[in-house]
Amino acid sequence: MAVTFSVLRPYRPVLAPAVILLAAVLGLAAGPALPASLAGLKTLGPGIVLLLGTGIGAWFNRGRAFIALASLLAAFIGYSLALEYGVDSFAARAVFTASAIFVPLNFLLALVFPERGISHHFNYRWFMLAVVETVFVTWIASAGHSNLSGTVWRDLLEHWLLRSPPTPILGRSVFAVAFVAAAIRAWPKVPVSETRPLDIGLVAALVAFFTACEWADKPGAFAGFMTAAGTILLVSLLQESHRLAFRDELTGLPSRRALEERLHGLGPVHAIAMLDVDHFKKFNDTHGHDIGDQVLRLVAARLAQATGGGTAYRYGGEEFCILFPEARLADTRPHLEKLCADIAAYQMAVRRDDRPKDQEAGTKLRSLRSPEKTLSVTVSIGIAEPQDARATPAEVLRAADRALYRAKEGGRNRVSS
Ligand code: GH3
Ligand code: MG
Ligand code: MG
Repeated sequence: MAVTFSVLRPYRPVLAPAVILLAAVLGLAAGPALPASLAGLKTLGPGIVLLLGTGIGAWFNRGRAFIALASLLAAFIGYSLALEYGVDSFAARAVFTASAIFVPLNFLLALVFPERGISHHFNYRWFMLAVVETVFVTWIASAGHSNLSGTVWRDLLEHWLLRSPPTPILGRSVFAVAFVAAAIRAWPKVPVSETRPLDIGLVAALVAFFTACEWADKPGAFAGFMTAAGTILLVSLLQESHRLAFRDELTGLPSRRALEERLHGLGPVHAIAMLDVDHFKKFNDTHGHDIGDQVLRLVAARLAQATGGGTAYRYGGEEFCILFPEARLADTRPHLEKLCADIAAYQMAVRRDDRPKDQEAGTKLRSLRSPEKTLSVTVSIGIAEPQDARATPAEVLRAADRALYRAKEGGRNRVSS
């Protein structure tokens, strides 16, 4: 089992979106076989998922996800309303064309501008953009229906850039640019735990919406892929908040909360290592807190690659914990000795913290000297395992902490048990 999971680990961020997209494709194939009683899903399903996603995006204060979901929701509602006039009606075609351009455009703008959350004071600009887009599309779609708008727009939809179906050329171009922007942001980070679920979600939601547009004339396809786009973003919002709760923000390692939960699930055979960076207070005093943070990150990246089946957690501050489920202390020891020696030998390249804020001065200075310097630290490690069958993981952890104290007393940069 563990082997299967570790093989999948690099692909974990794309697993959920891939499964949802696959489900949408299978759903499309099974569509005609759906009982008539479920036909209402086509109209209600995407609306409910997108509304829920938009609400949760606002609740979790995730600006990009909110903009993406709100745009998809507006497009879905608009297109559903326009379809009342018939699939081939001018209103339906106009809303379709506008959606295929404005939705990816909004994705693109959301990706280009910084994530500011929902309640930022500059967000009235987004609100104005939403109003402008909605009024503009409604006005065009009502061409001929109201005396405010003329019929000039009718010819416009025949322009080669805007002709549909399927997706108009202009829409495809905006999709392509938005896709590249989203893919750059989501490009797998090292370690993979640094990859943000929402970034992957935005790429996959774009793909789903593009498919919805391309297959808009297939019955059920539009609804199916709109639902998929909403579900992907909804799931990635949940993954993101799970990540915030269980991952340490500075190092990307699982947090103490994740450790506490894992401890409960340990069986009678396990080993726990406690690890503490040596003289780190002095290190911070000498090099500054920012460089201290960079070093913690680099040490954590090493710990994340611990061998012997160990999983590293950030316990707090400059202290880490490595759990070895189903391992004996004696078997973990060589792996930890090696880790200790590796870290001591690790020449870490860190950015100087005294870089001038002013860019020009910075460029001049950089040409005079290297922008990086190399530093190294050592760590002390204490290991423990259950002494008898009744020992709880919490007791083992305390024993590991006592062993760590002995490693410090013994001269640091060593492993004690
Ligand atoms: P020892 O070898 O005995 O462990 O000495 P120490 O100085 O590492 O021990 P101590 O626990 O007294 O100090 C830990 C220091 O780690 C205090 C603080 O300056 C630093 N530290 C804790 N958390 C962080 C962090 O998140 N970032 C940075 N830069 N420093 C941190
Ligand atoms: Mg400490
Ligand atoms: Mg320390």
